Formats: sequence, structure tokens, C-alpha cells
Amino acid sequence: MNACNLPVADEWFVRTRVDDAVTLLTEPHVHPLLRCNIWHVHGAGRDLLVDTGLGIASLHAAAVDLFEADLIAVATHAHTDHVGGLHEFGSRAIHAAEAETARSISGVLHLDLANADPAAIEQMAGWGYDIAGGLLTAVPRADFELDGVPRIPAPPTQILVEGDVIDLGDRAFEVLHLPGHSPGSIGLWDAANQLLFSGDAVYDGPLLDEIEGADIEAYVATMERLRELPVATVHGGHDESMDRRRFRGVIDAYLARRAGA
Ligand SMILES: [Zn+2]
Ligand SMILES: [Zn+2]
Repeated sequence: MNACNLPVADEWFVRTRVDDAVTLLTEPHVHPLLRCNIWHVHGAGRDLLVDTGLGIASLHAAAVDLFEADLIAVATHAHTDHVGGLHEFGSRAIHAAEAETARSISGVLHLDLANADPAAIEQMAGWGYDIAGGLLTAVPRADFELDGVPRIPAPPTQILVEGDVIDLGDRAFEVLHLPGHSPGSIGLWDAANQLLFSGDAVYDGPLLDEIEGADIEAYVATMERLRELPVATVHGGHDESMDRRRFRGVIDAYLARRAGA
């Protein structure tokens, strides 16, 4: 136990092999609200990392064997839970609309809800995330302080826009600009394999379109666009992966909720 009365986790990241090329890393002791999916894709010429977690333990150190090849780390957007470890990687890419946010990351993470605004916690519950019990169920080390983790800037080395291609040698991902959840949210689309990394535009959980920087009208347009994409597999920014049927179900539920927005 430690200062915040949470146990110290043996391992911070859990690793799941999804297929021959794709590995999922997650932080199981982080509340689902902030537990982003971290995807590693092994390519013939280059590897791809999609998002980097909360940054309260070193992602690079935890999976150093995965990061031996040339690798580009892409943030689907600049929210805290996706860019926490971005600074640990030499090649960093993000959409133009969020490049400045990544560049100017600063301050410390606020994970101690004792200092949080009760109205914000209540609002979160209304959106489908009950965080009243805390944001962590364990800590990564004994001297960990809930409000003491510095947020480290991750100036992009590559700026992405709609239509850019990230080529791994044996497969390629097209950048889809998917604003709504945030202005510079992107998806990475491998048309040949009908595989989409959708970031926080679509995942199988409560979608957030009323947070700071979100835009419901843009989100509706993004959903209408994504609905037409011939996906077989979607790996989202949170929660379980989706097949086409589930993906369209999530999109249709969103569009029904926001009809006329
Ligand atoms: Zn997220
Ligand atoms: Zn987000």
C-alpha cells in the first residue's frame, strides 16, 4: 500500500496478441474512461503504434521488445489518456488540428478525485462513466502520487492530414480525419485488410461529444461517413473491438440519439 491506499500493481500494462501483426496493450488498473487501447502493428518495413496510454508508467520500458524495429507512434488525438507516453517515442505523428496541443502538454495529471469538482463527476456519470470510486484501482509504484505525475510535451515529428498514408511496407494505413469527439481525431484505415483503428470516434462504450473541444454536428457527419466504410474489423480507442455489424450498431445508436442535431 502507499500514500493513496491503493495496492501497487505487479505489472502495469497487460499485453494481448490479437493476430500475427497486431498486439493490444492496456492499463487494467485505470478506469475505463481513461483506459485507452494501445495498438502495436508489426509491419515488414516499419512498425506502427496507435496511441500511448496515460503516461503514469513507462510504456516503452514495459514493452521494450516490441519497440526494437523502426516505429512511428501515431496519436489518434491529443486527449490525456492517448498521448501520455507519446514523448517516449522518437517518431511522433498527430493530426494538424491537435499538433499544438501535443506540443504544449504541461502541468501534472489530476487523478485524485478528492480535489475534483463534484459537478464534473456527476456530469461524467450522466454520460455513462461512474468515476466516483476513483480513477485507479492500483498504482504503478510505491511512491506514486495521484496528483504528482508530470505531463510531458510530445512535439510531433510528423503532421497528419486527411488522405496521408502510413506505409509499413506490407500494408498501409490511410489517415481519415474524423472530427467530432475532438477537432483532430483521426482513424487509420487499412483498406486491403478492411481494418480500421477508429480512436475515440467510435468505440463500444459511451461516446463523448459534449466534452471540451467536441462538436456534435461534426460528429454526426463523421458517423455518416464511417457508416459507409466497408470494415471487417474495428479496433477502437477504448473497449472491445467490433465487427462490421457491431460497428454499424454503435454508429446507428449514436445517429438516432443525435438525429436533428
Ligand atoms: Zn480516449
Ligand atoms: Zn478522447
